[in-house]
Amino acid sequence: MKRVLVATSNAGKIRDFAGAASSFGIEIAPLPNLASLPSVVEDGATFEANARKKAEAYSRFVPGEIVIADDSGLEVDALRGAPGVHSARYAADEPHQAEANTDDEANNAKLIREIKRVPVEKRTARFVCWIAAARDGKTLAIFDGKAEGVILDEARGTNGFGYDPLFYFPQIEKTFAELSAEEKSVYSHRGAALRKFLAWHKQST
Ligand code: IMP
Repeated sequence: MKRVLVATSNAGKIRDFAGAASSFGIEIAPLPNLASLPSVVEDGATFEANARKKAEAYSRFVPGEIVIADDSGLEVDALRGAPGVHSARYAADEPHQAEANTDDEANNAKLIREIKRVPVEKRTARFVCWIAAARDGKTLAIFDGKAEGVILDEARGTNGFGYDPLFYFPQIEKTFAELSAEEKSVYSHRGAALRKFLAWHKQST
């Protein structure tokens, strides 16, 4: 089975990636020793910029190997696209402190507070994901995916991570936290972006 290294320590993302890749005969493995490598500051203005930055930086540590990194988040229309690129640190007191990630519970509590001020019919949102594939410090290609949904004002479901319990996906009448790993890979932004990467990988390697 071919192996692709993914530069993330987020167990939820690794689960999503592995779920989507297995049907392509590709193994997605975490980049070895990621925790001991210098961390990459995600200070880009866009998801794409941050994904490139991470993939390029980490690929330098594994010469000749393809490394993928994703940058993803939630865009809520009524909050003018927030939390957006700040999704991982939405509840931080210092929103510009790029390394200060906050926990899922605090981020979700803040989102519930904000969404309660918005009329129910205006609670549309999307998850977006950008994946960069890099080798030896250079981006080879970039892929994106999105999933359209609605933000709830109370959590539903216990699977997944991040904002999953608040993200209701009308197409199957469930939140992302009510999906199995396989279902999430079918419907999610990360699954969509990863399938584009896998198709590219298949024809270019
Ligand atoms: P990143 O590691 O900078 O890409 O941070 C992404 C953040 O966006 C995560 O910490 C979550 O808060 C949120 N997020 C991205 N993808 C998902 C998802 O699939 N489910 C729930 N939350 C997500």
